[in-house]
Amino acid sequence: TMGKKGLLIILSGPSGVGKGTIRKELFMDESLHLTYSVSMTTRNKRAGETNGVEYYFVSRDEFEKNIAEDKLLEYSEFVNNLYGTPAAEVERLRNEGYNVLLEIEVNGASQVIQKIPEAITIFLIPPNLHELEERIRGRKSESNDIIQLRLQKARNEMKLKNTYKYVIVNSDLKKATQRIASIIKKVERNTL
Ligand code: 5GP
Repeated sequence: TMGKKGLLIILSGPSGVGKGTIRKELFMDESLHLTYSVSMTTRNKRAGETNGVEYYFVSRDEFEKNIAEDKLLEYSEFVNNLYGTPAAEVERLRNEGYNVLLEIEVNGASQVIQKIPEAITIFLIPPNLHELEERIRGRKSESNDIIQLRLQKARNEMKLKNTYKYVIVNSDLKKATQRIASIIKKVERNTL
């Protein structure tokens, strides 16, 4: 281990803003000591997703059991499905010295901020909402109704961006990634 408790980093932003792509870019930089915790969700697996990798795909009953047993650091309902972060996993990884990145939506993020105020909170915004709509539609994995709900949710999430410490416009993947990397490094230096 690296001898020191890792940071907790929350990455939020509307569906389709490119959080997943930025996360992958960040993870290529080994000097950031990043890892992620696998969330639990009740939504259906998309093509190409694997249980235990993108998510733990569980039934609503199983999810509710985890809530009742207080096993989640946070959880939230997002477009008719539940999503949550297993608390023990996050602690274990941070205690091993990893900086843990949570890619979660706004309600979950505010629960984490209450519990762990020193969390680094980053909100990614699209250059404009029109582009976001194109990206969400381009994904073609969801029905029109779900796409409409995701767009609605995106507009609502954008209103909460100022509750985050850092707001970053994702108009250039490399630049946005670099900005986040430098934030992580800066906070790491300051907490030494
Ligand atoms: P998707 O269905 O596209 O994978 O995720 C939908 C939304 O749920 C995204 O904004 C994603 O960041 C968020 N999300 C994923 N895992 C969690 C989690 O554990 N907790 C919360 N609150 N949101 C999550």
